[in-house]
Amino acid sequence: MVVAMEPGATEQQIAAVVNRLGELHLDVHRSDGATRTVIGAIGDTSAVDLSDFEVMSGVAEVLRISVPYKLASRTFQREDTIISVGDVRIGANEVVVMAGPCSVESLDQTRTIAERVAKAGATILRGGAFKPRTSPYSFAGLGEPGLEILRTVADEFGLKVITEAMDRSQIDLVSRYADIIQVGARNMQNFTFLRELGTARTPVMLKRGMAATYEEWLMSAEYIMSGGNHQVLLCERGIRTFETYTRNTMDIAAIPVVKKLSHLPIVADPSQGTGRREKVLPMARAAVAAGADGLIIEVHNDPDHALSDGAQSIWPDQFDELMSQLQQIAPVLGRSL
Ligand code: PEP
Ligand code: MN
Repeated sequence: MVVAMEPGATEQQIAAVVNRLGELHLDVHRSDGATRTVIGAIGDTSAVDLSDFEVMSGVAEVLRISVPYKLASRTFQREDTIISVGDVRIGANEVVVMAGPCSVESLDQTRTIAERVAKAGATILRGGAFKPRTSPYSFAGLGEPGLEILRTVADEFGLKVITEAMDRSQIDLVSRYADIIQVGARNMQNFTFLRELGTARTPVMLKRGMAATYEEWLMSAEYIMSGGNHQVLLCERGIRTFETYTRNTMDIAAIPVVKKLSHLPIVADPSQGTGRREKVLPMARAAVAAGADGLIIEVHNDPDHALSDGAQSIWPDQFDELMSQLQQIAPVLGRSL
């Protein structure tokens, strides 16, 4: 990090900063320019709170040169992380498609949808058995019976399973049925949950919080990784902006930004990302074009009667079309699907 002093800062003020950096066991390099002094600090600054220095007298500006997350950063690991779930590899050449209903509603519904998405080329079945809902009166998922349905149906069609755990108490249960645990947007900064996921051995897909910066998102990934679980996928699912036409504003730029800052695979969710069925296909195309390693798509056989997120769930026929378009786009980018 770098501490730039104000022009005319006193020797005493400079010494106070140098001492404070020394207390943090950082190597200090002072450089006296024509108008002001700049102090460089080298070492592990990930635990340093910049504002502690910003408020010191005589300090003009404090900048962090290195990123505060380590394990998740490209500096720590240059090569892309590839997460293997059986024979499905996420983060490698192939763009992986996860698809299924927002919520598991019944065995029949899940089987009907799974059969269609598997046939179209999806390799991972999505579906919530524990649903975070804005209203306490909305359908909150089938719980464990829902997990059983997901596993049974996925096995029947040779699919892997991704499903959400909503808190620490559900990690063991969900791990017994799922191949990937989804952490919902509303839980991105549930730090006790993230720490516990660090001790799990199941891959985790961490959704971006609806008001989270890239750095906050990567810091949340760091929580899981620092606990020992390095199998983390990131998922852009739209953020909240002043726009109300779409449910969220899907931040396509997150894809290339995260790819540069981190070696972790990134998945795009155009369903939560737009909230509108007819916008899912164009945003899925955009996500693949921008370099996403995977997509997660809500598909329903009867979206008008879905128990959650019907408006953004596409029909199986629309999913077929989506897959066929993506199969044309992926090779242009040197990828397969
Ligand atoms: C979902 O995937 O259905 C979901 C609830 O996602 P999010 O946490 O992104 O809102
Ligand atoms: Mn949903």
